[in-house]
Order: sequence, then structure tokens, then C-alpha cells
Amino acid sequence: MSRRGSRKPEKGEAPGKGRVSLEPFSGGQMNFDELGGRLRSIYEEYDRQASAFVANAACSKGCALCCTDVGNIDITTLEGLFLLKQLDTLEAEVRSGIRQGLLRNKAERERGLLSRCPFLSDEQLCLVYEVRPFSCRQLYSLARCSGGPPTVHRGALDLARRTVMRIQDLDAMGYSGHLSYILHLLHGKGFRRQYLRGRSDPSTIAIFGRSHGIAINRFRRP
Ligand code: SF4
Repeated sequence: MSRRGSRKPEKGEAPGKGRVSLEPFSGGQMNFDELGGRLRSIYEEYDRQASAFVANAACSKGCALCCTDVGNIDITTLEGLFLLKQLDTLEAEVRSGIRQGLLRNKAERERGLLSRCPFLSDEQLCLVYEVRPFSCRQLYSLARCSGGPPTVHRGALDLARRTVMRIQDLDAMGYSGHLSYILHLLHGKGFRRQYLRGRSDPSTIAIFGRSHGIAINRFRRP
């Protein structure tokens, strides 16, 4: 989940066989093009503000520790939708591999294990680099990682925290949680339909949400 500019996208799924239709919210005020634009703006603003922090990062091509030895990769439902949209563009074989990887990742995380990101290719490249979630964009390290946590500026952490809140505000009717858990929810037709209509009802995912640490964006605490 690095913010390593070195990982270029490859041609490369959705957790299920079906395609995801990104219809606009039925409320009519927002649509996914608009939301995507706003999300990209938040990412870009973060990049600008964080540029001084990451200028001397030790991250380099081929180093993917933050994608292999990884616990939770937190994403919002909105980011999850754009991941699914991107996955629709990848080849069937690649999608199938990622689908299996997502199932494995979910099972491993449910057992409390570290789990390789399903979007990381065998060549250690991010298959969804252009739409990787903010969790991945915010990561860098001033020193080569060797099993320990990355070395980062405190200011960068504060900036990342504020940025996460903006992304959650943008997705006020959605949820946040580990990548394969959120994609599991979005794969459920009923959940997705409800969410796309801007009418998410937390009671419908209460059991899964509690057991998998899913946060309701509009109820988050600053
Ligand atoms: S989506 Fe996965 S492979 Fe891509 S940068 Fe994030 S953790 Fe790494």
C-alpha cells in the first residue's frame, strides 16, 4: 500500500464475475464522475502538500514491503467503487486471479494474519496504481524498511489524518474498513444498490460491520 511512484499499473478484478454498474446517485445531486473528480482533487492536494515530506523518501521500484507484509489497508466504499470500475477494464484472467486473492486476503485477515495485497502482481507492481486508495498514497519511508514500521514525518501523519477525514466526508453515506472487507460488501448486490442510491442503512451490515471493524463514515469521530 505504498505511495511508491514506482509501481506502474499493469493491465490487470473485481471480486465477482459480474460487472459493477456505476449509476449516479438517484438523489440527482451527485454522480460518480463528480465524486471521482473531487476524490482526485483531494489526492492531488495531498500530493502537493506532502511533496516536501516525501522528497527524500527511500522508496524505490520493486520494493513492495508495504503491499506484502501488510495488515489492514483501509479504504472507503467510494474508493472501493473506483477500484471495481478499474478492475472491469482488466483482462479476465487477471480479474480471476485478483478475485481469488481477495477471498484469500479476507480469510487471512479474519484469522488475524498479515496478507499480501491481492492487487500486487508477481512482478511486485500495483495492478490498480492509478486508482489505488489513499492508504497506499500516503505511505512512504525516509529509511529502507526492514520489517519495522516506515520512518515518516509527524507533519505527514497529521496531513494524512486530515485527508482521510475529507475522503470520509466526501463519502458520507458510505463506510470505511479493510480493502477486501469493503469490496466484499460492495460485491453484495443489495448493499451496492442501496449504497449507490445514497441510502445506506448500517443496520443491514451490523453483524459483519461489528466483527470486521467497519466504520460508518458519517458517524466517525474527528
Ligand atoms: S492497492 Fe495493493 S498493490 Fe496497490 S499500492 Fe495499495 S497495497 Fe500496494
